[in-house]
Amino acid sequence: MAGSEKKLERSKSGLRMIPVSDCDMSPFTLPEPPWVPDDECKQCQNCRAKFDFFKRRKHHCRRCGKCFCNDCCQEKVNLPRMLFLDPVRHCQVCIEVSRKEEDFFEKHLKTLQNGGYFLVSDSDMGPDQASLFFLKLSANHRQLLFEGDSDKHEPVQIEKIDTLQILPSGKDDEGNTVAGGIAIKYTDSSGGITVVKMMVDCGGNRKPGQVWIAAMQKAFKMVYDARTK
Ligand SMILES: [Zn+2]
Ligand SMILES: [Zn+2]
Repeated sequence: MAGSEKKLERSKSGLRMIPVSDCDMSPFTLPEPPWVPDDECKQCQNCRAKFDFFKRRKHHCRRCGKCFCNDCCQEKVNLPRMLFLDPVRHCQVCIEVSRKEEDFFEKHLKTLQNGGYFLVSDSDMGPDQASLFFLKLSANHRQLLFEGDSDKHEPVQIEKIDTLQILPSGKDDEGNTVAGGIAIKYTDSSGGITVVKMMVDCGGNRKPGQVWIAAMQKAFKMVYDARTK
């Protein structure tokens, strides 16, 4: 699947590259926050310094929309969840959150899109009926795709995932529990609730599958946290 068509848009915070169609909007996207209005901020919301047009001007954090002095809001970092092309101003609280997410966008998202092999079974099947699928996240991040040689499985919509559970598969040499797979509960295309289990293919090296599972956990947490705010 090729990347979706995108267009440039300038908002008050900077240039954004957004999909032409809403159907291609990534589930990891967050809306831009409303800015605290000028007449409501007379002082920095962090250090309480009073604003003065000439000496101490106000700036808005692009992530939370609150109002700060330059000292408390001068660092610019990437904010891919709001689709900005360039790094934007962040307050000291938000910068920590965005820095952690940068890891997701630079590493984990690629892992999910590169995909991996898993033994897949639906809730009504026994484990011996599992089939091998190549699982990967679609280019617009909205669907988990199942590519199989013979069997078919409908894509799982990321936004329709209700819960994600790690399935342990025993201990490693150092006694740590290792992830053997994940169970995802989601609403399917007919509106029913389905649980699909994806187990790391035991045939070869388990590491890539486990890295993929960890990335999937991060993706789900991001969508889930935005949903419950
Ligand atoms: Zn300040
Ligand atoms: Zn902020």
